[in-house]
Amino acid sequence: MKRNKLEVRSPATGEKIAELDVATAEDVVQAVSRARKAQTAWQGEGFAARAKVLYRFRDLLIDHKEKIADILTAETGKPRAEVYGNELFYLCDAIGFWAKNAARHLKSEKIRPHLLKTKKVVSMHMPLGVIGIISPWNFPLVLTIGEAIPALMAGNAIVIKPSELTPLTALFAVELAQKAGLPADLLQVVVGFGETGEMLIDHADMISFTGSVETGKKVMRRAAERLIPVTLELGGKDPMIVLKDADLERAANACVWGALMNSGQVCTSIERVYVEAPVYQDFVNRIVERVRALRQGGSEEEVDLGSMTSAEQLKKVEFQVEEAVKRGAKILTGGRRSHSAKGLYYEPTVMVDVTHDMEIMREETFGPVIPIVKVKDREEALRLANDSRYGLDSSVFTRDRAAGWEMAEKIQTGSVCINDSLVNFIIPDAPMGGMKESGLGRRHGADGIRKYCRQKTIVMDRLGLKSEMSWFPNTKRKTDLFRRGLNLLFRSGWKHKLFPPTER
Ligand code: NAD
Repeated sequence: MKRNKLEVRSPATGEKIAELDVATAEDVVQAVSRARKAQTAWQGEGFAARAKVLYRFRDLLIDHKEKIADILTAETGKPRAEVYGNELFYLCDAIGFWAKNAARHLKSEKIRPHLLKTKKVVSMHMPLGVIGIISPWNFPLVLTIGEAIPALMAGNAIVIKPSELTPLTALFAVELAQKAGLPADLLQVVVGFGETGEMLIDHADMISFTGSVETGKKVMRRAAERLIPVTLELGGKDPMIVLKDADLERAANACVWGALMNSGQVCTSIERVYVEAPVYQDFVNRIVERVRALRQGGSEEEVDLGSMTSAEQLKKVEFQVEEAVKRGAKILTGGRRSHSAKGLYYEPTVMVDVTHDMEIMREETFGPVIPIVKVKDREEALRLANDSRYGLDSSVFTRDRAAGWEMAEKIQTGSVCINDSLVNFIIPDAPMGGMKESGLGRRHGADGIRKYCRQKTIVMDRLGLKSEMSWFPNTKRKTDLFRRGLNLLFRSGWKHKLFPPTER
């Protein structure tokens, strides 16, 4: 059934905080068409002028940090500290990074052809046009505006379809961008549910999607109808491996942060931990001690964890924990809803005696749960870590740097942190993205901006065109040229390079 209104509710209290109109099909068509018109002028501005506007936008974000924190905490239930430390920090850094580095990553490349030396060949990155950004609710600033920054620096216009649970942050940030001087049509938001996302796929020139694997597959199928490019940043079931020589204090701290930050609602959260037998009990004790000391509550209080954001995900977490317990898993702390009957609070939870056939070890858990498994050696840890349909992020803890590196090379995930967790996300210089069902394409690094471009190659004669070079009227000359060219290749010994003898 088509819905015309969208209610935004505080997940911490259950209260309604806003009601918005859902964009109609015509609204989406109009938004893309206005964006397309605005894009041409923006492309013509060049990198320096675009960077200038984005720097002004960054200043306004910092000036309005309190208001942003009010909106963002209200619609997500996360603590204020996480708004400043994660969302705003990331976005401000991303603006500086792309403003400085976009031109370098998109510089035209001169190519020296291996045969046709007389040709000047240049490959360039041109903006795609209108980028549709479809986002989830766990980082309403990072995964909407943060994703838009490299696309804008590349000279594109943007239409964002934020999550239906958290549209208010992106709407406010777009207001600030306009105040900073960004033309209104260049960065727009269309509010709505999944159907609005579908409409955007039907009109934009490219889709940058972040969300679940299941929706990601639908997005790709729909985009295939128009043959437009898509990037898919999807879910994870990210493993952490603790070897027996690890610094356990560091490993335990990184685990609690990496698993429970944003109440575990992070695509790169640590979601399963494999610990070598000799240090297993010591590690588990440290985790339980730390998790029991965490403070959970509303955003107005001094807390470490807020509420969860999505009622649907909370139900999934409850189901996974209950299923694991029924099948023999043990809860050492947490394991139930907490704090307020109305709010979506789930206690930070540590589980042991979990096995690899339980859902909690196989499917994404978008909540504050740490399942820990004892393994006999590093080979078993590696085998279990790779036994997953996902492959987003992972971490390895060991004092042996060579062993850590070797494990990292063998783990089937798009990124691996050695003796750290989650930190790769705030290194915009380095590509980040999934293997297996965790997605296609990369954010950050050169690919993080080139994905918003189409490559174009221009070929021109270096020496000026001679009119008698035209091929068709002069077949004899063409044949002679080919013959001479082939003779030259064969005599110079290139024959074997070009056509290596095959073994019989
Ligand atoms: P979701 O897939 O349910 O929704 C994501 C977005 O897609 C929403 O805006 C939604 O309205 C829209 N959508 C739904 N159906 C659509 C359709 N048929 N066509 C187009 N758009 C459609 O995900 P969610 O519940 O909002 O977010 C949680 C998921 O996001 C988790 O799986 C998490 O791992 C993933 N995630 C991944 C990353 C990453 O970088 N890899 C980052 C954050 C979150």
